[in-house]
Amino acid sequence: MGHLIPVLELGKRLVTHHDIHVTIFVVATDAATTDSLLKSCPATITNLSIVPLPAVDVSGHVEPSDHIVTKLLAMMRHSIPNLRSAISAMPTPPTALVVDIFGTGVFPLADELGMLKYAFDTTTAWFLATAVYGSSAEDAVARHIGSKTPLEVPGCRPVRFDDTLDSYHAIGDRVYRDFQRVGAEFTTADGILVNTWEEMEGKTLDALRDRKAMKDLVRAPVYPVGPLVRPSPPLETTEPNDAVLWLDQQPDRSVIYVSFGSGGTLPLAQLVELAWGLELSGQRFVWVVRPPPVEDDDVSATFFSLGNGSQGGPHHGYLPEGFLSRTRDRGLVVPMWAPQAEILAHPAVSGFLSHCGWNSTLESITNGVPMVAWPLYAEQKLNAALLTDELQVAVRPESDSAGSMVRREEIEKLVRRVMVAEEEEEEGKAIRESGERALSRKLKGSSYSALAQVARELELNHQR
Ligand code: UDP
Repeated sequence: MGHLIPVLELGKRLVTHHDIHVTIFVVATDAATTDSLLKSCPATITNLSIVPLPAVDVSGHVEPSDHIVTKLLAMMRHSIPNLRSAISAMPTPPTALVVDIFGTGVFPLADELGMLKYAFDTTTAWFLATAVYGSSAEDAVARHIGSKTPLEVPGCRPVRFDDTLDSYHAIGDRVYRDFQRVGAEFTTADGILVNTWEEMEGKTLDALRDRKAMKDLVRAPVYPVGPLVRPSPPLETTEPNDAVLWLDQQPDRSVIYVSFGSGGTLPLAQLVELAWGLELSGQRFVWVVRPPPVEDDDVSATFFSLGNGSQGGPHHGYLPEGFLSRTRDRGLVVPMWAPQAEILAHPAVSGFLSHCGWNSTLESITNGVPMVAWPLYAEQKLNAALLTDELQVAVRPESDSAGSMVRREEIEKLVRRVMVAEEEEEEGKAIRESGERALSRKLKGSSYSALAQVARELELNHQR
């Protein structure tokens, strides 16, 4: 969902603000995810269609133990024949193909069909700069990992070893090679769209545009088009939801929302510490809980499970004994999935303990909710570093001396802290307002103008 949501929002903006006709092809991984995307697309938007592509069997091309990134890339590559047929069947040949990070392997199809090709980085400019630079500087990545020293991406904030990308820890593995290929393929696009904005990451965007500093790696124009976030629907149009109904009963600005995204899970021992931390904090909370990975007791391991899991049941046998009854009056535990956009927009919510997925981060920022940054996988540690060290809109827990477990006392402290985070709120307000300005059509904000530029290119190319 973290990839589908910004793609959908980009499509909506291209249609509503720039008069572009958009078709979104979704490669099905599971029916629940495709369904929920289709449901979240308002039927009232004309010129925007969502076309599910059939699931593809990649079992002969990946190992069951391969990383999720490797599997997704394989699915996309093997979807090329389906995509070719679907595009060829369109009444008007489309002008451009936009892919997200998992789709750069489809670029040859755009070349074959004479389409412009754009890459859409659904996360930060810092991630983009790191991935692109890292793909051309394997020695530097090897040193960064081998000697645990920062990766100096030209013109950007250095990437600390502790915050580095997941795939850099897998040097030599297939996922590392796959990721490096994606970094290189990004640079072959005609344009790169990024879900960020000038005021958010100005220095990094400048670095990406500095061809000399980046050694001509990024020749394509970089368009910051964010913050693209799913708007929370007006409450009267949504189905009553238990979590929202519960929030309605709570005082304003009294609840911390705890969630690790569409697939994040915590190992059992860490989950138990989090439960204790929440309980000891004495704060009201809504906690979206996913069961810990099976047979795993290693607190350094974190996992991602595919699908939005909306079918999850209330099985909380792994929570500390008596936790649910002791916190009944001030806490709500929601299994698997909650309507996050609505929750973060609710007046009762004033803190978010988050895995720092970029959508969650943007939803938090645009709702003015300070965060406890608890990154798990992918580029989330980079996001956490940006939020805490640079933007100061989040606080970040310290792990124990082994560096792998966040203890209950630390959680208790930070949960309390974020509920009275005046400094972070002040910083957050400035960033939120800059995001609103960036997107404003009336003010011709930077992100609006960047997307208008892309739209102009499409029009020019279409006329040719
Ligand atoms: N989300 C949600 N309910 C949940 C978990 C996630 O609505 O219980 C949404 C969330 O609002 C966000 C997206 O799923 O828009 C997750 O994207 P993000 O980039 O934060 O993380 P990812 O799931 O990709 O790790």
